[in-house]
Amino acid sequence: MDKIYFDHAATTPVDPRVLEKMLPYFTQNFGNPNSQHSFGRQTVSAVDDARDAIAACIGAKPSEIYFTSGGTEADNWALRGAAYALAGRGKHLIVSAVEHPAMIATAKELAKKGFEVTFAEVDEYGTVDLAKLERAIRPDTTFVGVMTANNEVGTIQPVGEIAALCKAKGCVFFTDAVQAAGAIPLRVKDIGADMLSFSAHKFYGPKGIGALYIRSGLKIEKLITGGHQERNMRGGTTNVPAVVGMAEALRIASENLEENAAYVASLRDRFIRRVQKEIPYVRCNGHPAHRLPANANFSFRYIEGESLLFSLDLKGIAVSSGSACSSGSLEPSHVLLAMGLPEGLAHGSIRFSFGKDNTPEQVDYAVDALKEIVVKLRALSPLFPKELKNEVFPKEE
Ligand code: PLP
Repeated sequence: MDKIYFDHAATTPVDPRVLEKMLPYFTQNFGNPNSQHSFGRQTVSAVDDARDAIAACIGAKPSEIYFTSGGTEADNWALRGAAYALAGRGKHLIVSAVEHPAMIATAKELAKKGFEVTFAEVDEYGTVDLAKLERAIRPDTTFVGVMTANNEVGTIQPVGEIAALCKAKGCVFFTDAVQAAGAIPLRVKDIGADMLSFSAHKFYGPKGIGALYIRSGLKIEKLITGGHQERNMRGGTTNVPAVVGMAEALRIASENLEENAAYVASLRDRFIRRVQKEIPYVRCNGHPAHRLPANANFSFRYIEGESLLFSLDLKGIAVSSGSACSSGSLEPSHVLLAMGLPEGLAHGSIRFSFGKDNTPEQVDYAVDALKEIVVKLRALSPLFPKELKNEVFPKEE
C-alpha cells in the first residue's frame, strides 16, 4: 500500500485546480497590485475578484475581508487589535482554554502587558460551558475568543449562542474558524461574529495565506504597519498567487461541502467503529455528535502517543499527536488536559484527520496496522498491567 496521509487537520495538499489558477500569477501576471501601470491593474483585478469570491463564500461584504499571512497572523491581529483598541473601556480578555496556541500564547503575552486574561473552561467533550462563560464576563471584559471547531479533538462550539451572549454583554466576539472553513457551513452573519479567521492550507489551498473577517463598523488596531495595502490596515505587498489560490480553494470547498463532509465522515465513522470494537482500552476524545466530519482523536491507554505515531509512520501512515504546532514538545495537550483527561491518557492521544482523497481501504489498512502496533507497544510498556489481557479482538473496555 502507498503512503497514507491522515493528517489533513495539519495541512492539505493543494488541489490541482487551485494550482492551475495560481500559476499565471507567478510568471505572466506578476505585477504588484499597488502599481499604477497595466501590470498592476491586471493583478489588482485578480485580488478584487478573489476578495469578492471569498466574501460570498462566508456571507460577508468584500470590504470586510483582510488578507493575512495565515491563521496565526489573523488570530494575533484579532486578539491584539481588539485588546488595544478597546483598552480604554476595559482590560479583561476571555479566550477558551482549548484555543490554538496562536490565541493562547498571544493571550499570555497580553497578560504580561497589563491585560487580565480568563481562560474559559470546557466540559469533558471540549465544549465551552456557556453558563460559566456568562459568569466570567465582567463590565471590563472587551473581547471573547472561542474557536468554531477544535483542531485537536474536532469539537464544534456553540458559536452562535456565544456571539449572542457577547452582543448582549457588549463585548467583541472573535471566532477562529481555521479548522471549520471549507469543512462545515460558515456564514458570519448567521454566527453573529464580529471577527473570524481562516487559513487556505486547511482546505486544499496554498500555505502562508489566510484572512481575517472584520465586521464593518468594528475598529481594531493594526498588527502589521507598513504600506497602504488592505485599506491601510495591513502593510505588505499582497501575495497575489496565494490570494487567487485561496479564493479558488474556498469556492471549490464551498461548492462541494455537503458531499465532501458526508464522504470524510463516512471514513471517520468506519475508523471510529472499528477502533472501538477491535482495540481495548481506548477512549474517543471530543464531542460524539458535534464534531468536525474529518476528525477522530483517540487516547490509547498505557501507550505514549509519540511511540504510536512513529510506529505508524514506519508503516507509511501519517497521523499527529496533539496539534502539529505543539508536537515536538513533550507536554501533554492543553486541550485534553482542559477536558479533564489525566496526564497519562493525554500523553497517549493521536489525531487522525481524513481527507477527500482517502479511501475506505486505507482506513481498514490503518486499523489493521494500529491493532498490531498497539499490541506490541503495550507488551513493551511498563505501564501496562500484566493481569490485563492485550487481546487483539477483545470486548470494549
Ligand atoms: N487556528 C487553528 C484552529 C489551527 O488549527 C491552526 C493551524 O493548525 C491555526 C490557527 C494556525 O493557522 P496557520 O497555520 O495558517 O498559521
